[in-house]
Amino acid sequence: MPDTEGPDDLFALPGLSRTAPKRGFPEHELVPQVAYEIVHDELMLDGVSRTNLATFCTTWVDDQARRLMAESLDKNIVDKDEYPQTAELERRAVRMVADLWRAPDPATTHGTSTTGSSEAAMLGGLAAKFRWRKRGGTGTPNFVCGPVQVCWEKFARYFDVEIRQIPLRGDRLTMHPDDIAAHCDDNTIMVVATFGQTFTGLYEDVAAISAALDKLQETTDLDVPLHVDAASGGFLAPFTAPDLIWDFRLARVKSINASGHKTGLAPLGSGWAIWREASDLPEELIFNVDYLGGSMATFNLNFSRPGGQAITQYYEFIRLGRTGYARVQSATYRVAQHLAAGLRGLGIFEMIHDGDPQRGIAAVSWRLSEDPGFNLYDLSDRLRTRGWLIAAYPLPADRDDETIMRAVLRHGFTIDMADLLLADLVRCMNQLQRRPFSTSLTREDAGGFTHDATAAVPTTSTPPR
Ligand SMILES: *Cc1c(COP(=O)(O)O)cnc(C)c1O
Repeated sequence: MPDTEGPDDLFALPGLSRTAPKRGFPEHELVPQVAYEIVHDELMLDGVSRTNLATFCTTWVDDQARRLMAESLDKNIVDKDEYPQTAELERRAVRMVADLWRAPDPATTHGTSTTGSSEAAMLGGLAAKFRWRKRGGTGTPNFVCGPVQVCWEKFARYFDVEIRQIPLRGDRLTMHPDDIAAHCDDNTIMVVATFGQTFTGLYEDVAAISAALDKLQETTDLDVPLHVDAASGGFLAPFTAPDLIWDFRLARVKSINASGHKTGLAPLGSGWAIWREASDLPEELIFNVDYLGGSMATFNLNFSRPGGQAITQYYEFIRLGRTGYARVQSATYRVAQHLAAGLRGLGIFEMIHDGDPQRGIAAVSWRLSEDPGFNLYDLSDRLRTRGWLIAAYPLPADRDDETIMRAVLRHGFTIDMADLLLADLVRCMNQLQRRPFSTSLTREDAGGFTHDATAAVPTTSTPPR
C-alpha cells in the first residue's frame, strides 16, 4: 500500500534515513524532532558521568538547580544593568566565598565568578604580574610551584611568565617547603600552592609554604605573595577540616581560586576568584560597566557569559549553608574511605591518599604494591567495559617512572555504587590474571581518557591538553 500521508514514524522521516550532516555547513533544514533525535542518539555513546571517577566536576544536581539553570538560560551575566538581580546574587556569592575563606573584610574585598578555576587562575596570576610590575619589576616574571594542573602551564605560556616547577623528591608527593627559596628571585610574582593536587588528591601544606616564604623574607627581603589554587579543596576543607590553615588566615595569601563546579556543587561552568583585600587586585584589571544607574567593577577574560552558574551557585549556598555542605562533603569522604578500605583489602594496592579529610580531597589514589601480571592501564581499560572511568597515569617529575590510579568521589556517589565498583574490580583483576594481555597496555594505548591528571604532567615539550 503506498503511503499517501507520508511516514508518521520519527525514524522513517527523511533526516533519519540518511547519515547525519558532518562536513560542510548543512544545506537543508531538519524538523526539530529529527535534529534532536540525531544529536541525542549520538550522545548515547558518551560515558555516563556518574560512573566517571576521573572527573572532579559536578555530575549530580537536584531538580531545583536544574530549574534555575533552565530559567536563566537567556541571562547574560555581563549585562549588570539589564539583569541587576543576577548581578546582586553574584555579589552576595562573592561575599559568601570571601567569608568562607576568611578574608579580613568579605564585604569590601574584590572577587568574581568565572567559568571555572582556569579563568580564575589566569586572573589571580595576572593580578600578581601587575602587582609585581607596579613594585618596579622588570625582565621576565616567573612563578614557583609544585606539580600543578595544566591551567598554570597555560597561564605561563599565554601571558609570558616563566613557570618554575619544583620536581618531587624523596617520598614526598607535594611541593617541599624547603625547596622553594632556591627557586625565588626578584622576578618571582607569586608562589602557587595547590590545595587538592590533581594527581593524588593530596593537599599541599600551605601554612608551611607560607612560613618558608616568611623565612625567605627575613633573610633576603624578598616578599613573595602566595596564590592558592583551591580548585577542589576550597569547598571541602572549610567544612570537613576547619582547623587546617590554608586560606586568608595566612597573611601572605593574596588570592584564591576554586571551581564552583567541583566541590562547590554548582553545575559546570562555575568558578571563583577572590582577593584578600581590594588593594590586591590592581585597578588596571578592572573594567566598569553600567549597573542600576551607577557602575560596577568587572574583571573577567570573557564578556558574555551565562548567568545561570552564579545564580545556581548562590542557590546551593543558601540551600545547604555550612551545616548542609558539611553533611554532603562528609558523606562523600565516607564513601572515599569505604572505597579505600575495599581497595586495601584486595591485597595488591598501596594507598597514596585514602580519603582522609585532613590530608586531601574526597578522592582515593593508589599504586600497585606488587606485580600481579597486569598494570594499571590494563585495569583501567578492563573497568571501562563495565562503564567505570578511572584514570591511570604517571606521577609528575621526578617520579614519572611510577604509575598510579585515582578515583574522585563526588556528591551523588553512594556506598552502594562503591561496592559495585569493588566487585567489578575483583572481576576485572581475575579476568586479567586468567587471560592476561599478551603485552600490557601503555599510557598511549590507554587513550585519551586519562583526564586532566595527565594533562598536568609537567612537560614543556608537548603542548598542554
Ligand atoms: C580542576 C583544576 C583546575 C582547573 O579547573 P577548571 O574549573 O576545570 O578550569 C585547576 N587547578 C586544579 C588543582 C584543579 O583540580
